[in-house]
Amino acid sequence: MRAVIFDALNAPPTVREVPRPPTPPGGVLVEVHATGLCRSDWHAWAGHDEIALPHVPGHELAGVVAEVGAGVQRFAVGDRVTVPFVCGCGRCDWCRGGNAQVCPEQQQPGFTHWGSFAEYVALHAADTNLIALPDAVGFGAAAALGCRFATAYRGLAGRARVQPGEWVAVIGAGGVGLSAVMIGAALNARVVAVDRNPAALDYARTLGAERVLLAGLDADLPALVHEVTGGGAHVAVDAVGSEATCATALLSLRRRGRHVQIGLLPPVHGHPRVPLDRVIAWELDVLGSHGMAAADYPELLDLVARGVLDPSLLIARTVGLAEGARRLPLMEDSREAGITMIDPRG
Ligand SMILES: [Zn+2]
Ligand SMILES: [Zn+2]
Repeated sequence: MRAVIFDALNAPPTVREVPRPPTPPGGVLVEVHATGLCRSDWHAWAGHDEIALPHVPGHELAGVVAEVGAGVQRFAVGDRVTVPFVCGCGRCDWCRGGNAQVCPEQQQPGFTHWGSFAEYVALHAADTNLIALPDAVGFGAAAALGCRFATAYRGLAGRARVQPGEWVAVIGAGGVGLSAVMIGAALNARVVAVDRNPAALDYARTLGAERVLLAGLDADLPALVHEVTGGGAHVAVDAVGSEATCATALLSLRRRGRHVQIGLLPPVHGHPRVPLDRVIAWELDVLGSHGMAAADYPELLDLVARGVLDPSLLIARTVGLAEGARRLPLMEDSREAGITMIDPRG
């Protein structure tokens, strides 16, 4: 099969023929029809995760089941499917309790094994992790769900329990930040989006941000958010993952506000200094969101199928494997707005 592959960390990824991965027992081999390019892929390429080389990245995918491993009950060849980026083992207490997103034995395509920037990807514990796609949900929209959109949805709806009329401050308007903007607006919250890229803020506006704030060198962003929201946001999302954006989000909250940390903070950079004095004095809640278990997808897919949420609006461009390989190293500091989708068959 053709795949995007790199032989060393920080070395330019290339496209070449590699063997198809074997179908694992209890798992499936999926023919990939759409796979999103995400900053997490860049983290793996840059050496922030433990990966084996050579490596095929890619973890946000949708496609068609091409082979079924021994013991799979619920899926058959030809099924249209997607999968969360965290695949649970299906056996532990967390998985059986519906929280596969924190499974201690989790597998992640594109991290623990070869991922979906390829014609085929192997997925484990299919009965636990695969999600059948309704006909109304296309491959691109489904692939956009798998990581950033589902993480933002669970962060706002499940973890922060955003209420209608509340202010949600989204710090960073990349893929996950734009997802949070759309979801916040769909939950009837009032959204203020913050980014240093004017094009990303324009995009955020079209997705429902009521206010946008350009992050400049000398901007006091928490003060601006407090001004715009009349006293601070009820919920703030760090959709970037840096010491600075984490602090901006926390300090943008009003008293008793809820902070959702979605942007990754790889320990390789050291642990961020966080203004915990404010967390104590203002009784802020600090919440993590690590994707969403397959068991929780039906509610989200129903909103997509009914058109309440449309992740396909986040897809700014669809490219082939070679262009995906070229763009991967540029994800650290992309100035392009919206999600890049890869079609490996293109
Ligand atoms: Zn991702
Ligand atoms: Zn498990």
